[in-house]
Amino acid sequence: MNDVARESPNFYRDRLGVAIQGVTLHSTRGGERTRGDPEAEFSAALDWLTRHSYQTAEGATYRNPSIHYIVGHDGRLARVVPERHGAWHAGTGADRRGANLNAIGVELVQPTADTPYPEALIARAVALVADICHRHGIPARRTHDDAAPGIHHHSDLTSRKSDPGALWPSEVFIARVAARLRALRGEAAPDDAGAAAALWAAVEGNARAVGELRSEVAALRGRLRSAGQALSG
Ligand SMILES: [Zn+2]
Repeated sequence: MNDVARESPNFYRDRLGVAIQGVTLHSTRGGERTRGDPEAEFSAALDWLTRHSYQTAEGATYRNPSIHYIVGHDGRLARVVPERHGAWHAGTGADRRGANLNAIGVELVQPTADTPYPEALIARAVALVADICHRHGIPARRTHDDAAPGIHHHSDLTSRKSDPGALWPSEVFIARVAARLRALRGEAAPDDAGAAAALWAAVEGNARAVGELRSEVAALRGRLRSAGQALSG
C-alpha cells in the first residue's frame, strides 16, 4: 500500500506564530461506522479529517477537525495538514491554543478502543515520530500535557478523550523512538539496539526484585517457624 496525501482546508496558518514543541498521539475509533475493518477505518478517517464541515441532525453546521498524519494498520501513512500549519486535532476549532498550535497530531488507526495495534503500524509510527522529533528538536520523552516539550496522548489533554488508550504500548514506543532518534543524530547504530537494551535492563530489574522478594519470604518463613517452635516448646 502506498502513502497518500490529501489536504484539509481546516488549519491555523503558520501556527499563528507558535513554535512546534510536541507530538499528540490519537487513535481513530470510528469502528461503529467501519465495522472494525482497519482499511475502511483508514479511509473513513482520511475523509473525516479532510472535510470542510458537517451538519448535525438538528441542522447546526460545524467545521471538521483535522490532523497532520494518519498511520494505518499496514504501516501506510496519510499526510493531511503540512507540519508548519496548526491542525485542529486537540480541542474545538475555536481553541486557538495548546496542542493545536504547538504540537504535531498523529492519528493511529484503531477501529475500537479494544483493537490491538499491529507491529506494522507501531514501526511506522516510531519512524514518523522519531523523524519529527529530529527535525524539530523535540525530546523523545513522554509528557502528560502540551506545556512541556515531548510526546503526549490526547487523553492527557482532556477527560473527554481516552485515545490512544491502554493498548497503546507507550513505554516501548518511547524507548524505540528514543533509540531511533539517537541513530538519526548519529549517536548510535541505526536500529532498535538501544531500546532492546533498555527493555532487557527493565526485565532484569524485575527478575532481581522477584529474587529479593523470594529470599525475604524464605526468611519470614524461617522466623515464623522459629516463633511456632518457641510457642509450642
Ligand atoms: Zn484524539
